[in-house]
Amino acid sequence: MYAYLIEHPDGLILVDTGVGEGNELIDALYRPERRDLSEAIARTGHRLEDVAIVVNSHLHFDHCGNNRLFGGVPILVQRVEYEAAHEPYYTDPSWVDFPGAFITQLEGDHRIATGVRLLSTPGHTPGHQSVLVDDDQGSILLAAQAAYTVRDFAASEIGERNMATEDKATWQASLRRLHGMQPHITYFSHDAMEWRPPHP
Ligand SMILES: [Zn+2]
Repeated sequence: MYAYLIEHPDGLILVDTGVGEGNELIDALYRPERRDLSEAIARTGHRLEDVAIVVNSHLHFDHCGNNRLFGGVPILVQRVEYEAAHEPYYTDPSWVDFPGAFITQLEGDHRIATGVRLLSTPGHTPGHQSVLVDDDQGSILLAAQAAYTVRDFAASEIGERNMATEDKATWQASLRRLHGMQPHITYFSHDAMEWRPPHP
């Protein structure tokens, strides 16, 4: 699972926080190998303490597990996602509603800083969101789990791993929407490869 750090002049923006610790069921089922988030951020030359905003693409356990390291920091989530996270077996709720959590619930698209926009991309979950970052070449897209793989994204397909989803039309619409943003590079939560548009 990949988290992304945006170096913005107004402060660091962290997109997703990885798998948390202390949930026996998750450890037994998934056997996660964790990377220390603080060390990962340090390798970029920054400090975890300097993260100004946390964005959760969605609240599954592998995306919000280290939110607890960010007490008092605004955590931006879609409102419908926050509501879904309180359904049984959706996530570890203690990784969402920890003491000091400063959750900001959003409805739909939201500009969070100059050149940084959250895009509502439901499908994988009811309140999934992606992040579009402007740079000097156009836009960089952090699709997160709007697609599992580059292949799924390139084909605008939901992909085999998500055939169980009930809301294929919504998912498909989100993928089309992301392509419409014409990013010059796109990154994912669960694929190390990035997507670039084919050259004409
Ligand atoms: Zn997920």
